[in-house]
Amino acid sequence: MWSILRYAAHRRFLTRLTRTLLVKNIHTLVTMDEQRREIRNASILAEGPAITQVGPTALLPDHADEVLDLKGRYIVLPGLVNTHHHFYQTLTRAVPGAQSCELFDWLRKLYPIWSHLEASGVYVSAQMAAAELMLSGCTTSSDHLYLFPNDCTLDDEIRALADIGMRFHASRGSMSVGESQGGLPPDALVEAESKILKDSQRLIERYHDESRYAMTRMTLAPCSPFSVSPDLMRESALLARCHPGVRLHTHLAESATDLAYSRERFRMTPGEYAESLGWVGHDVWHAHCVHLDDVAMRRFAETGTGVAHCPTSNMRLGSGIAPIKRMLLKGVRVGLGVDGAASNDGTNMLHEARLACLLARAGDCDPTAMDPRTALELATRGGAAVLGRDDIGRLAPGTCADFVALDIDQPQFAGAGWDLVAALVLAQPDEVSYSFINGRRVVDRGRLVTADLALLVERTQEAAAAMAAKV
Ligand SMILES: [Zn+2]
Repeated sequence: MWSILRYAAHRRFLTRLTRTLLVKNIHTLVTMDEQRREIRNASILAEGPAITQVGPTALLPDHADEVLDLKGRYIVLPGLVNTHHHFYQTLTRAVPGAQSCELFDWLRKLYPIWSHLEASGVYVSAQMAAAELMLSGCTTSSDHLYLFPNDCTLDDEIRALADIGMRFHASRGSMSVGESQGGLPPDALVEAESKILKDSQRLIERYHDESRYAMTRMTLAPCSPFSVSPDLMRESALLARCHPGVRLHTHLAESATDLAYSRERFRMTPGEYAESLGWVGHDVWHAHCVHLDDVAMRRFAETGTGVAHCPTSNMRLGSGIAPIKRMLLKGVRVGLGVDGAASNDGTNMLHEARLACLLARAGDCDPTAMDPRTALELATRGGAAVLGRDDIGRLAPGTCADFVALDIDQPQFAGAGWDLVAALVLAQPDEVSYSFINGRRVVDRGRLVTADLALLVERTQEAAAAMAAKV
């Protein structure tokens, strides 16, 4: 009897894997493939988690197990890839006293509040952030959780993202150098390095999936030069590199105070410090890099080291303007990140692409510094490269069935028929109508189908209020 039940379950599993999905009559399909094709009146066919065909509707089959007819009124693009975030900060948006601070003061104001984070808050804030990301076109996100007070573990965040159905690159972040040792965070928020490394090993063994179409991958992410020791940076790199596909991530050269700390404490620029620790390479990406010098940019390009560009956060904290055009000209891999909701206050990847485009122009006093399609490429292919994946960020046979559709009849596209692809970035559409992740419909007619959004908002408010009550 048991074997019959197991066989039936196995058949159901296989059927789900091989289920076909056809999305047809797309007005404009932005493939971000090798030729960067934009196809009019197009269709996508997927089987299980993977795309099998992309092309003009007339050339693709007309039937599938699941069919979505977009009737020529939607633009479809690869799901956006978010390369830097701190989901838990969704509980501390717009905190009074931290609304107009530079990085170090901003952190000093928020650490005492964050010390009241609990496991239930980790779970609900991760789902809230994921919901906002999914509704704004993101299908893969990384996150950097680096403090574990009370009963918090990374497991809660990974469970939250699995439950809501988003592709996730989880980071076991860490802080080990407290105020008494010359670091920035309070001593109560740092962990012993031996405990950090042991937990990192556990999480890699439990969750890291190296396979193609993987929904969960692991990253090790000591927080920043001013909150961990060089030893922990080296040991984390050694541990990650024992496990194929496990990546390394940290904050680097974010602000003037960050730069001054590196010079004073390590007698090195942030770029020199990263290189001295072995923190360059195809398996490494750094957040921000606002104050990266040309020597470091060249080394990043030579070694394949990636950068997560977070324009909103850099503006919010007055950190400066990252030299993205120079990085791209030198060949550095660049993706986009919304960064934590405490230094962005929003979590919208489409808005982030727009700001990346506009900020590059403002920084260089040059309207040609970044065109809208480059911004879109950073948000898709760029992010995929930074996360070390060739199965997302583009739509072609053999890639993940991760794509989103926007209604071209919404107000933001009115009058933008001249160039709908550019309008995706310039005209600031807010939300997608449909989103598919691994071939599964997770947003349908603008509604998140994998979680109750109203309930999520309510629980997020409650978790934030519970933290506020303890401060
Ligand atoms: Zn950050």
